[in-house]
Amino acid sequence: MSDNENHFDVLIIGGGPAGLTAGLYAARARLKCVLLEKMIMGGQIATTEMVDNYPGFPEGIAGAEIGPLFETQAKRFGLDVRQFKEGLKVEKLDGGFKVSCGADENFYCKSLIVATGSGWIPLGIPGEERLRGAGVSYCATCDGAFFRDQELAVIGGGNSAVEEALFLTKFASKVYVIHRRDQLRAEKIVQERAFANPKLEFVWSHIPLEIVGDDGVEGVLVKDLKTEKEHLLKVAGAFIYVGMKADSDIVKDLVQVDERGYIVAGEDTLTSCPGIFAAGDVRIKPLRQVATAIADGATAAIMAEKYIENS
Ligand code: NAP
Repeated sequence: MSDNENHFDVLIIGGGPAGLTAGLYAARARLKCVLLEKMIMGGQIATTEMVDNYPGFPEGIAGAEIGPLFETQAKRFGLDVRQFKEGLKVEKLDGGFKVSCGADENFYCKSLIVATGSGWIPLGIPGEERLRGAGVSYCATCDGAFFRDQELAVIGGGNSAVEEALFLTKFASKVYVIHRRDQLRAEKIVQERAFANPKLEFVWSHIPLEIVGDDGVEGVLVKDLKTEKEHLLKVAGAFIYVGMKADSDIVKDLVQVDERGYIVAGEDTLTSCPGIFAAGDVRIKPLRQVATAIADGATAAIMAEKYIENS
């Protein structure tokens, strides 16, 4: 494809709920629009077993189903969706942006919607990186079934940790939830479900010091913060959910970001760089949900349309 054919009004990076909704609205506004995604459609939600709090699905909907549904709907109005394999680079030009994809594919756009979401923060303890894929995981939906009838540990006390621990009880004989405080951060309804599940055991006020094992996880060395005592919790797998950080590296030199990389942008999705809009989990916001991501996507597309009209 020639560079000329790669000129767009709007280029969206990220195929999660925010990006795909931006694509739907941009396509319906008859803007020439392309969406670039490096993995699977749906973003973070694609690795969530069941989404129970997205309105319109009274019985819940599998996380993996949401992305393809959004994509089909946006494509019906003409959204161009492309996969990319190599790292993207974004450059500011006069009157727009150049987005380079690998060695020789360049896209040019008048406006850019960044909907790249966020990724898991590693704990940064010994054994974590070495045993990644050999019992250390950040995705219960992907790896839970490998641990049928075995004991597992989940680290963290937020929604992700507790929801994923609950999911893991489908396979595991027991799931320890190791949390550094004696109260969970997760929403109350999630806590209620967790406390009612006999396969979950909470290891309160403990921090993990090391993931132990030679070729695979054999345990998590934990420290009791109240007694300072250490002991080995024997488990076959450790699932780590200690928070997220923004995937904003591609634009971090162009827009203002906070210390975790979240893009500074309000509900209008406007960033510090005119022409770049931030939608979904990648922007600073009080609540990261499918519902808030799709709101951002719609807003970003309409703001991009206004920006193009006025520039
Ligand atoms: P989070 O809410 O930031 O929770 C992170 C958890 O990890 C906290 O309990 C924190 O402990 C603990 N933690 C952080 N650093 C640690 C460390 N170094 N060592 C040990 N523990 C550590 O992250 P999240 O659960 O991934 O959720 C991220 C966002 O997605 C949130 O806004 C959440 O509401 C949203 N989310 C929503 C749903 C849903 O609505 N169904 C599902 C998943 C995620 P402290 O509590 O002591 O700080």
